[in-house]
Amino acid sequence: MKFCSNCSNPMEQIIPDDDNRLRDVCTSCGYIDYQNPKNIVGVIASFNEKILLCKRNTEPRKNYWTVPAGFMENNESLMDGAKREAFEEVGIKDYDASLFMIYSVPHISQVHFYFYTELKNMNTNIGPEINKVDFFSFDEIPWEKIAFNSIAVLISKFFEIGSKNAKKQTFNLTFSKERTGK
Ligand SMILES: [Zn+2]
Repeated sequence: MKFCSNCSNPMEQIIPDDDNRLRDVCTSCGYIDYQNPKNIVGVIASFNEKILLCKRNTEPRKNYWTVPAGFMENNESLMDGAKREAFEEVGIKDYDASLFMIYSVPHISQVHFYFYTELKNMNTNIGPEINKVDFFSFDEIPWEKIAFNSIAVLISKFFEIGSKNAKKQTFNLTFSKERTGK
């Protein structure tokens, strides 16, 4: 941040008192612009051991497959955020879900939280950010067309353990370059 959002004076990179990292600090009013990781929340949903994937209608990775997910908003819980994204993007609602995977991506300062649910039917309703929804068995997954590494890891973990265990198990993983998820 170049200018203070509080008083519009120039910001300077310094380590504030009682801190140990460089921060953007206002030279005039002392406002400190703390930058912290963003939370991504989403849902991996299955029906008859097939998982719901949706095709992105927006950049980045337009026309690549992913699970419904997005940035958590202020004033919502992790699960509320995940369910909101899933409803907005693919129209699923009224289901129980359990935390399935926490995925840290330190180099871009993101933490992803994916909830798992077993759907009672295949009803979907796609929103403007998505152009297609489909259900895939492990053999049908279009690995070359999966939007993000985190999603490839997520899908792999689900098929590794199956729907019964997915309800009871939580993975806590961190991005590594070697990991492709396949
Ligand atoms: Zn200021």
